[in-house]
Formats: sequence, C-alpha cells, structure tokens
Amino acid sequence: MAFGANCDRCGCDLLGQDVRYKVSLDITQAYDPMEISSKDLRRDMRGELEEMIKVLEALPAAETKRIEDEIYSSFCFDLCPACAKMLREDAKAFFRTRHDARRSPLSEQPPGEPNN
Ligand SMILES: [Zn+2]
Repeated sequence: MAFGANCDRCGCDLLGQDVRYKVSLDITQAYDPMEISSKDLRRDMRGELEEMIKVLEALPAAETKRIEDEIYSSFCFDLCPACAKMLREDAKAFFRTRHDARRSPLSEQPPGEPNN
C-alpha cells in the first residue's frame, strides 16, 4: 500500500512531521466454532452455497457491497501525531473495555496491581 503524504483526518502534510502513525482497523464477523453441530456437517453445504451465490448475484451491486462490508471491512489510514492522539482518546471513549498500551512490545513487564 502506498504511503499517503497527507494525514487522512486533517489533511496536513505528513512529510513535514517528525512522526506519522498508521491505523489499521479490521471489522470481521465472528463465528463461534462450538455452534457447528454434526447435523450442520451433514447439510448440503455446496447446494446451500450455490443458492446463496445466486441470491447475492441477483442483488444490486450496492446491496452486495453492504453485505460484504458487514462480513468484513478493513481500513488503513495515515495520521499526523495530533490526530493519532485524538484517535487514542476517542477509542478509549468508544470502547467500554480498555485496550491501552499494556500490550506494547516496549513495555517489558505487566503493570503491577496497586495494593492488591
Ligand atoms: Zn492530522
């Protein structure tokens, strides 16, 4: 993928920045493998898939794209330091569960639980 020379959020020139950030976001529909039963395995999967493909082919292109996006969407952005900082804050606000810098390869040891 080519390097964008501008921040994908504010449009500033990234070549003038000391640091730039890359953001990758994959939104994938998740399946629980435990929900597959022996009954499922005996189903006519090929026939069902062929039916599904026929249905998808009959749909308008916009609808097919919407369904594809629901199953898998991938985003890749270049950000300037200010926009990356803003995104970090927004991501913390967006998700209930905190996934912060703890998994960073730069932090050697897990943070200690205070007064545990
Ligand atoms: Zn920016």
